[in-house]
Amino acid sequence: MMPRDNRLSEQRLAELHAEIVSCRRCPRLVRWREEVARRKPKRYADWDYWAKPVPGFGDPEARLLVVGLAPAAHGANRTGRMFTGDRSGDWLYRTLHRFGFANRPESRQRDDGLALRDCYITAALRCAPPQNIPRPEELQNCRAFLEREWSLLGNVRVIVALGQIAYATVLKVFRARHAREASRSFPRFQHGLELALTPRVTLLASFHPSQQNTFTGKLTEPMFEAIFRRARELTETQ
Ligand code: SF4
Repeated sequence: MMPRDNRLSEQRLAELHAEIVSCRRCPRLVRWREEVARRKPKRYADWDYWAKPVPGFGDPEARLLVVGLAPAAHGANRTGRMFTGDRSGDWLYRTLHRFGFANRPESRQRDDGLALRDCYITAALRCAPPQNIPRPEELQNCRAFLEREWSLLGNVRVIVALGQIAYATVLKVFRARHAREASRSFPRFQHGLELALTPRVTLLASFHPSQQNTFTGKLTEPMFEAIFRRARELTETQ
């Protein structure tokens, strides 16, 4: 039988997710996520787009937390699950599967049987932004959701931040969660950077597996795999 604490954290995460899904705080993003669904391309003509904020997804007892930027307009904004149905997700789930964090290497739709093991995926922003570029006030609006999600994930030991915005957001949430660290300075984002946030929690920075990075070779599969190989090592030793 599942221990009581696990059930409680699952229940609280479910309550938080219900709150996230009904959020309409950023007018520009609400308009955009719904407009994208109305003007869907031919290849997705049969899809009933999610067109709402996308909550986190994964194992409530996870030691690995992956933080992305935001849902893609025709990816998670279509399917309703983080990194599901787009090229970035292809990279991410293939790599998570390789290091034992997912039960399959692909993620196509919400009911495809994919399960994360010891891993939870979330994002700095829950609604798809136009051109994948969020405004500062939108990131600020959404940050409280990450803060609450993180506090409900009591076993997190390693955080992988995908891209500069995710990295900066994780550090802001960290400072908010640890008042004594409010003035602590941190290095600038750099792929492969490893930062001990606390003696028990390490932050790893990675380029985002966006097409802009993967098509140009800025991020290669060996580079991306090295991040998750290190994440696996750290979850086993911290
Ligand atoms: S981005 Fe976040 S705060 Fe803004 S509407 Fe979406 S869920 Fe709400």
